[in-house]
Amino acid sequence: PYVVTEPCINCKYTDCVEVCPVDCFYEGPNFLAIQPEECIDCNACVPVCPVEAIYPDDELPQEYAHYIQWNEYLANQW
Ligand code: SF4
Repeated sequence: PYVVTEPCINCKYTDCVEVCPVDCFYEGPNFLAIQPEECIDCNACVPVCPVEAIYPDDELPQEYAHYIQWNEYLANQW
């Protein structure tokens, strides 16, 4: 699945939500999380993210590794 990372925090754009064909973004107070079991790896959200916050889990920069768990946890909370 794809993973939302730190640059998303406090970003006010929701372009990714609009293009996702399976509605797997979940919106919290200041972050958008991808539900990993719903993401179909289509890549549609990556080019529309103005802050380059979204990565496939297998290309995630090392410093964002913990966001894999955060996306799953937060998407299930919201
Ligand atoms: Fe949605 Fe596709 Fe992005 Fe997954 S890769 S979150 S399915 S737009």
